[in-house]
Formats: sequence, structure tokens, C-alpha cells
Amino acid sequence: MIQKLYFLQMGYCGLDQSALNGNLPTGKIMYVPVWSFLLETSDGPILIDTGMPDSFVNQPNYYAGTRREGKLIPDMQPQHTIPETLKRLGYSIKDIQAVISSHLHLDHAGGNHHFQDVPIYVQRAEYHEAIHNEDYSPIECREPNLNYHLLDGDYEVAPGIQLLSTPGHSAGHQSVLLNTEKSGSILLTVDVSYTRDNFERGIPFAVKDAQQNQQAIQRLQQVIQDKQPQIVFFGHDIEQAKHQQVYPSFF
Ligand SMILES: [Zn+2]
Repeated sequence: MIQKLYFLQMGYCGLDQSALNGNLPTGKIMYVPVWSFLLETSDGPILIDTGMPDSFVNQPNYYAGTRREGKLIPDMQPQHTIPETLKRLGYSIKDIQAVISSHLHLDHAGGNHHFQDVPIYVQRAEYHEAIHNEDYSPIECREPNLNYHLLDGDYEVAPGIQLLSTPGHSAGHQSVLLNTEKSGSILLTVDVSYTRDNFERGIPFAVKDAQQNQQAIQRLQQVIQDKQPQIVFFGHDIEQAKHQQVYPSFF
């Protein structure tokens, strides 16, 4: 059972607006929030996603001279790294009992390399797509010699922590359905939809396989009907983030 769920704000990432809404023209950068989540459970603390790499701190020009120049602009301060974030919560790296990786993109797995022994739950399809692919994400997100637990579909990490296979945005994307003591059911869609508009109005956004991602959206819409979650949280929704209570508030 999950005693507490904390929303952790891990900085921002500048994306072209067309990545959030495929109907808009390119040429305008939008700064979207990057998230991690910490669960306090009877088995100890568990992290969902680990934000951006430490090497992004104060490096808005990280991608200068690459094909991502002008399309991807990190906005990350020292307090947004995983070690500093955990310290603020009274934890250190070694306290974390497991890491759940929704997928291995730069804004979700940047702190994974800090966890040398901890089980990291990731879909096998994601692992194989990413792990030796230099173009996929920075090396911090793809460190090969970690304690990966490779999954082939849905998986229950512990009671109240259900991973739902939702490929489409990436090859092995997974979403997380939680059940917490205080708030009951909570659905983290992660990047099945960057925004509520992607999810509810079918607004296209940056996905690997649009048809597959549409199936993932439909799957999660069915989960919402069945479970009636208190919160449905999207991966990078600027409006939703404005109203989201973060640590030390918990759910
Ligand atoms: Zn993302």
C-alpha cells in the first residue's frame, strides 16, 4: 500500500509548440514541466522517473550544434537533480528501493545512472530501443550496467503500484496506476499524452507511432471509466501543472 505520493517538480524543458500541439506552426518554444514522483510505501521509498541528467544543470545550450538545437532547451537548476531532490525529502540515493522508468527519454530517465544496484523497472521494448542508441537520449538515461528488471507488458510492482503497458509515444512506454491510502486511485498517464488536449481532444503531439499511441489513449480512457481516479495526471501539461500541489503536499 502507498502511504504517500509526492509530486516532484524537476525543472522545465523547452520544446517547440508543435511538439505539444501538432496543429500549431513551428517556431515558438514552450517551457513544459518535468516530473518525478516519490512513493512512500511499507517497503520503503520508490521513485517513478528521475528527471533530466545532471549535465543539463544551467546548460540551456546543451544541444547547440546538434539536430536538436533550437528544439530542445533544458531549464534545470541544481535543486532539480535527483540527489538534491532526494536530500530535500530527507532521503539519499541508497534509501530508494526501486525505480520505475516510464520510458528512457531525456526528461524521464536522466537520474537513472545514480541507481547502480536498485531494481529499475522498464519495458523490455524500451530497453532494447534505447540502451545502445546514442541518438535516443544522453548516456545518463541509458547506462547499460544497471539492475534492470525488463518487463513484457503490465506488471504489479507492489500492491497499489500497477504498471500499464502503453507504447506509442516510445517503443516501450508505460503508464502508472496508483492506489494511495489518502487519495485512492491516481493515474499517471506520463507521455501517453503531454497535455489534457492530447488526451481528451485527440490533438496530435510528438509520438513515435501515432496509431499505437491512440490505442494507448483509449486504453487509459477505459481505465478511467473503470477506476474513476481522483487525479489523472498528464506528462507535460503547463496548465495542469499550475494547479498541481507538489512536495511537501502529498496524496
Ligand atoms: Zn516526457
